[in-house]
Amino acid sequence: MEAKSVKIDVNSVAEPFYKAIGNEIGVFEHSFNNRLPLLLKGPTGTGKSRFVEYMAHRLSMPLITVACHEETSSTDLIGRFILKGAETVWQDGPLTRAVREGAIIYLDEIAEARPDVIVAVHSLTDFRRKLYIDKLGEEVEADRNFMFVASFNPGYQRGFKELKPSTRQRFVSVSFDYPDPKLESEIVAVESGVNDSEARKLVKIANKIRNLTELGLTETVSTRLLVDAAKLIHSGLPKRLSVEVAVVEPLTDDEDTLEALKDLSSMMI
Ligand code: ADP
Repeated sequence: MEAKSVKIDVNSVAEPFYKAIGNEIGVFEHSFNNRLPLLLKGPTGTGKSRFVEYMAHRLSMPLITVACHEETSSTDLIGRFILKGAETVWQDGPLTRAVREGAIIYLDEIAEARPDVIVAVHSLTDFRRKLYIDKLGEEVEADRNFMFVASFNPGYQRGFKELKPSTRQRFVSVSFDYPDPKLESEIVAVESGVNDSEARKLVKIANKIRNLTELGLTETVSTRLLVDAAKLIHSGLPKRLSVEVAVVEPLTDDEDTLEALKDLSSMMI
């Protein structure tokens, strides 16, 4: 099966809301102008995908996104022969389409993919900017506008796959983290429709939980979870319940930790 990919034609959708956290917009623009591949590092839900969508708009570039998982192979990205009636025809995968058409390809969570994916993109992420399609015996030179962007969740916590240093050194890299409380409250308010003080309260709860490193959570409260909680509140679900189901429950299945986090967040609401 081909990798599931989503293509966005930036002219047909509205510009997404994106609040810059640091100098990432400038870094992206300069990487694009210099034909350099970009790696966005950081935990889930910190705005990496939103940022890429925003940049595609800003640069008026088509964007093809592939969410990588442990089954994603180079064939899924490059293409394969498929049966069409009585004939076998070649079908370009999302990466090949981006290379030929001149789009931004965004491989979300690249470290999750099979190792042959990393090998396949090597020649695209250096001065060659070429894709080798073994099955066709073809070498495709990337369109001038083609840009390679990937995201990666660094393995400072248990259970995350690593990227080899030799792979990491191919990319200009930007770190994403939770924004400071003022910015994050603004994001939560705009994304959900809750008012400022409501948003600030949610961010406070998030930061309290983020600082409880002794709980050993694999992933902590992301901006995404906060936005979800705020959306539930905005649509009328009671506040405590909203925080419980959108922020606390997704974090852990451990009963004691759940109880402790529920108590803590109820107290702060
Ligand atoms: P990631 O790709 O890092 O997992 P996303 O880009 O999917 O995270 O972000 C999750 C959600 O968080 C977005 O849908 C958006 O609502 C919100 N968000 C996070 N950071 C920002 C930001 N800087 N500007 C606007 N929205 C953001």
